[in-house]
Amino acid sequence: MNDQNCIFCKIANGEIPSATVYEDEEFRVILDMGPASRGHALILPKSHFKDITEADMETAGKLFPLASKIGQGMKKGLGAAGFNVVQNNGTCAGQTVFHLHVHVIPRYEGGPEIVAWKPGKSDPDELAKTAALIHAAVTEN
Ligand code: 5GP
Ligand code: ZN
Repeated sequence: MNDQNCIFCKIANGEIPSATVYEDEEFRVILDMGPASRGHALILPKSHFKDITEADMETAGKLFPLASKIGQGMKKGLGAAGFNVVQNNGTCAGQTVFHLHVHVIPRYEGGPEIVAWKPGKSDPDELAKTAALIHAAVTEN
């Protein structure tokens, strides 16, 4: 299914041209127009899902293998030393385009810090309580 008002639906399905890195029946991988580093790519399913929570298992299950394939291509083709796989869900998580996509961001030796957070503090009781809250939500019927 596609959304007529969704820019990534139009790009994924070839209605709007893009710098395409890879394409198959279900996905198009394009270069981000605001790259964090040279080769920053976006994996776009051709079907419209708002985010990962809407994706069917088959589509979701193909994203990590494809991210690995693209990342390996960045190492071989661009000389990247590594890569980050990032996927944002919701405005507060930094999502700006509401069509599921996975960022694959090549990293180069000596390059700037791109994806980082400052480690916080924790204590075992608090970790146990927090884990229990998520566990209950994940396993409830
Ligand atoms: P988000 O913040 O939703 O995880 O990521 C959206 C990304 O899509 C951003 O990095 C932004 O630069 C990129 N982007 C937004 N619109 C377009 C577009 O029309 N073409 C391309 N190639 N990238 C886009
Ligand atoms: Zn869409």
